[in-house]
Amino acid sequence: MVKYVVFLGKPGSGKGTQAQYFSRYYGWIQLSTGELFRKHLKEKTVLGSKVEEFVEKGDLVPDDVTFSLVKDFLDKAGADSRIIFDGFPRNENQAKMLDDWSENTGAQLLAAVEFSLPDEEALRRLLNRYYCPTCGYVGNQPGKCPNDGSILVKRSDDSEDVIRKRLSDYDSYASELRSHYRRRGKYVAVDATKTPPEISKFLERVMLKNGL
Ligand code: AMP
Repeated sequence: MVKYVVFLGKPGSGKGTQAQYFSRYYGWIQLSTGELFRKHLKEKTVLGSKVEEFVEKGDLVPDDVTFSLVKDFLDKAGADSRIIFDGFPRNENQAKMLDDWSENTGAQLLAAVEFSLPDEEALRRLLNRYYCPTCGYVGNQPGKCPNDGSILVKRSDDSEDVIRKRLSDYDSYASELRSHYRRRGKYVAVDATKTPPEISKFLERVMLKNGL
């Protein structure tokens, strides 16, 4: 049976860092929709050209396009996979699409964790964020990727005006997502101002408690 966890949280709240930790140390599969879109952009696929404008401006890609990408990924995942959804769902409609998939396949949601962080701290982190275009590693200094030696770059959507837009979009959907997962009894919040190791420890406890 597939088991999965949903990571909610504004850009810069550390979802990707934790998803990478759980992927590296526990073999969880990280499903980052943003990362999948960036791959399509880099490889100049048909889907990439369809979503380019949305991603560059920091707008949400339409739900049907996003879900078809997610569905492709899920169809290829093994029957006993452990999956972390990183950046999906972004609104209640997407959450319902995921619920339907979960009901149809018998997958089990362990928890929906929201990484809570003030906007100004998210902005500060994103303005200092360096990204590996090869493996998706994220750091806070320029230089080389510790995983594969690629030169770390700034993401094109990490400019101040686009960041502010992404943060305000997050706010407009956050409460419907919170309510959705509260109703399902799966909502957990984590203080994302804590250090990455502290957050990992907290999440390890949440996952164990919820049937990992
Ligand atoms: P992220 O890497 O999560 O910050 O996402 C980067 C960009 O990809 C977003 O600003 C959106 O344009 C797009 N994107 C990622 N995930 C989603 C999603 N679940 N729904 C719609 N658009 C998304």
